[in-house]
Amino acid sequence: MRILITNDDGIYSPGLAALAKVAARFGDVRIVAPDVEMSSAGHSITSSRPLRYQRTPIGPFEAYRVNGTPADCVALGMHNWEALDVVLSGINLGSNLGNAMWHSGTLAGAKQAVLFGLRGIALSAPTLSGDPDFAALESAVALALDVLLPARELSLVNVNFPPGVSQGLRWTRQSVRHYDGHVVPGKDPMGREHFWFVIKSLEPPEEGTDRWAVEQGYTSMTPLRLDLTNEHELAQALARAGSN
Ligand code: MN
Repeated sequence: MRILITNDDGIYSPGLAALAKVAARFGDVRIVAPDVEMSSAGHSITSSRPLRYQRTPIGPFEAYRVNGTPADCVALGMHNWEALDVVLSGINLGSNLGNAMWHSGTLAGAKQAVLFGLRGIALSAPTLSGDPDFAALESAVALALDVLLPARELSLVNVNFPPGVSQGLRWTRQSVRHYDGHVVPGKDPMGREHFWFVIKSLEPPEEGTDRWAVEQGYTSMTPLRLDLTNEHELAQALARAGSN
């Protein structure tokens, strides 16, 4: 199995090295990742300047750093390495749960794989009290990949590990409860105004969702789709159009 690994924290992130180490048990690993942190870049691509890559071995792995986004990295990685089976993105330093999926560069790496007709799996770990203990996380990562890599019917999966030791795997849905996104103003050392855009969940998570599973100490696995069509509202609109 040929496995392309990317992330949004940058190619030197400890989470990427940890993922490559476990993924190598399952197949041939190649790394193509951003040269700097691209967290919250979402699914942006670089369209106003050319992309370049530079060989940058990570431990025993063939690796390339790119002056672009996670989606760019998957495009370049697929262009330069044929017959890929799957793209793994992560392990992100920070959870990608619920509505955070809209901003996630980690998930975008996996989504870009699916847009190209491949399979994509995003993996994230919480950073509530500093960087995750990736050595301790290794068995949970292996368990998730053991389930997901052979499951060829799953095209796109968002995996989130709990803080501490995982109690096992849970299939979940995306938590879509309201979130609070607001802009916090501040001042830089020169006295100039600047701003932080911050988000947090407003409501407790509902049972069976990704946020719920991680809070219960489980590894959350959410199968996703790229079709954003609101079927219910489309049916209503079509019915209204038909009755006019
Ligand atoms: Mn990140």
